Amino acid sequence: MNFTSTICPYCGCGCGLNLVTVDGKIKGVEPWKRSPVNEGKLCPKGNYSYEFINHDDRLKYPLIKENNGFKKATWGEALSLIASKLKKIKKEDPDALGFLGSARCTNEDNYIFQKFARTVIGTNNVDNCANLCHGPSIMGLNLTFGSGAMTNSIDDLEESNCILIVGSNPLEQHPLIGRRVLRAKRKGAKIIVVDPRYTSIARFADLFLPLKPGTDVALINSLMNIILEEGLEDNEFINKRTKNFKELEEHIKEFDPYKVEKITGTPGNLIKEAALMYGQADNAVILYCLGITEHVNGTDNVISLSNLAMLTGNIGKRGSGLNPLRGQNNVQGSCDMGVLPYFYPGYQKVIIDENREKMQDTWQCGELNYLPGIQLSEMMEAAYEGTIKGLYLMGENPMVADPDLRHVKESLERLELLVVQDIFLTETAELADFVLPAACFAEKNGTFTNTERRVRCVRKAANSPGEAMEDWMIISRLAREMGSDLFNFKDSGEIFNEIRKVAPQYGGMDLSRINKPEGLQWPCPTEDHPGTTILHQDSFSTPDGKGVFYKIEPNNSTEIQNSEYPFILTTGRVVFQFQTGTMTMRSETLTKQYPESYVEINDEDAHVLGIINGEKLNISSKIGDIDIKARITPDIMPGVIFVPFHFAEGEEVINILTCGEPLDPVSKMPPLKLCSVKIKKS
Ligand code: SF4
Repeated sequence: MNFTSTICPYCGCGCGLNLVTVDGKIKGVEPWKRSPVNEGKLCPKGNYSYEFINHDDRLKYPLIKENNGFKKATWGEALSLIASKLKKIKKEDPDALGFLGSARCTNEDNYIFQKFARTVIGTNNVDNCANLCHGPSIMGLNLTFGSGAMTNSIDDLEESNCILIVGSNPLEQHPLIGRRVLRAKRKGAKIIVVDPRYTSIARFADLFLPLKPGTDVALINSLMNIILEEGLEDNEFINKRTKNFKELEEHIKEFDPYKVEKITGTPGNLIKEAALMYGQADNAVILYCLGITEHVNGTDNVISLSNLAMLTGNIGKRGSGLNPLRGQNNVQGSCDMGVLPYFYPGYQKVIIDENREKMQDTWQCGELNYLPGIQLSEMMEAAYEGTIKGLYLMGENPMVADPDLRHVKESLERLELLVVQDIFLTETAELADFVLPAACFAEKNGTFTNTERRVRCVRKAANSPGEAMEDWMIISRLAREMGSDLFNFKDSGEIFNEIRKVAPQYGGMDLSRINKPEGLQWPCPTEDHPGTTILHQDSFSTPDGKGVFYKIEPNNSTEIQNSEYPFILTTGRVVFQFQTGTMTMRSETLTKQYPESYVEINDEDAHVLGIINGEKLNISSKIGDIDIKARITPDIMPGVIFVPFHFAEGEEVINILTCGEPLDPVSKMPPLKLCSVKIKKS
């Protein structure tokens, strides 16, 4: 029996765990007590994370589409055909190709993926699922603080006197962060939860603020209005560390809580109480997640939270900060690696000549494309329009994850070339021309970067099934097939050393320094730097070091309730499932807990409509409809319904209903968390 210490493949907490191997097969998971993130504890997903690894459905050989089915192929055959098709499209226009990397793959896989797109193909059309989760955090926090990442650390939560949780339920989405919140409460911290649902974390709150989806800006402006009226702002911080405050100060005077109540559905007295609780705390922290970001004004929501944190001086010190909780185990890392259309690794803008020249020198690759690429949500539209002719997806499943799934399917079907590299034949892989079998987290070496910017080693515990290969190896082989000599890496360690050269935040992370349970948190620019647990301690990462206030108007979304579609649909996660279910739906234990989807509906609404618990309902939006079982509860606001987004079976795929537009003008986020719908009995 062998024990291999590695990192959980699911959420952004990035808990450490030991994989137990017997005769070369992974048979279980044991606690890794020295991992500081989780101290030996795991949530159900982590505990059963070994179950999908040996599943019979694992892809074992390359597949080529033939007569609407697939034929088994050799690696040589598949890669040579893919290379010739990529070359043909590239010759006409390199920007007619798009590349989607994966927040489930290692930093090394993602680094190689974007390097391939940029140096071999010559396009910046490279993105990852962050565009559909925390794209607004990257853009919003870059504008206000100069860096789009969690400001503080997970253990730091226990130093806080007040934790404001908006659009997030860490007990279901990030359970080991949820555990820290409960520990902070036991130490005396006050908890405020803002959500349209009375969630499991809300049950532990000192104050629960129900909020109509999409009205966050009005609420946050109103919290700031009270803080200013009560003189709870931190004038020293505002004067020394920030700019543009005057503009904001005038603007938020109109956000009286009793007027805002009419927009948000949050009682004015609760808004006042929350403002006093947050504003009076010595150290107050904000946690947020997709309830803030997955909106047509997601960037504005993030900027508003930045305004609130800066107004009270809650940035750059222990127990405070503004913390986007990243969804997947390596979504932070895939963004750090430059799997983004406008940034090279380390968030260096592609449009700046100096950055481009530096990358050309390091990669020795000749002229790089100076045009920023298009984002994931734009790639689907471009595929539909015919300007994108080929897509290469590594560990991405847009046929469940993206909004307006009928449109996504039609877009993918119009492509000349669709390559999917994954561990299972996903709903998207079924549409592909080529399917390439990849190694899973337990079958590779490399690094992951968790939500708190902590970089740690991922370690191989077993061999991949059949001929499946590590993602970076597949891409490197394809690059060589296309004539590139820039991908001759011996192992993932050599790739990490190149990452250190190009991403300044990783510069000081010698592998021997991160090959420890605690790893290192970026920025860590030099080998004698201790890593950074708290960002923006003395100055912000903006060009002049100042935090920037912005005046933000509430959203006048076109997606509002109306007489034809009187309910607001919002979506989210449950603790036993993960993202599009590719891995968790193949875990017997987890699937037993949550075998099917459901729609949560308020008990008074159900009474008015004559709906009984468990009854099948037909939910329709302006673009589609699904049939789904009712779950009646008082724990959701009247007029709002909730469906988990993990399920891809039958007719319960919720993104049949959600719309792909309008997009957030800054981050290009579609309105995944707010969709007008109507309900009738099936
Ligand atoms: Fe894995 Fe997240 Fe659960 Fe930790 S909290 S065990 S990282 S799913």
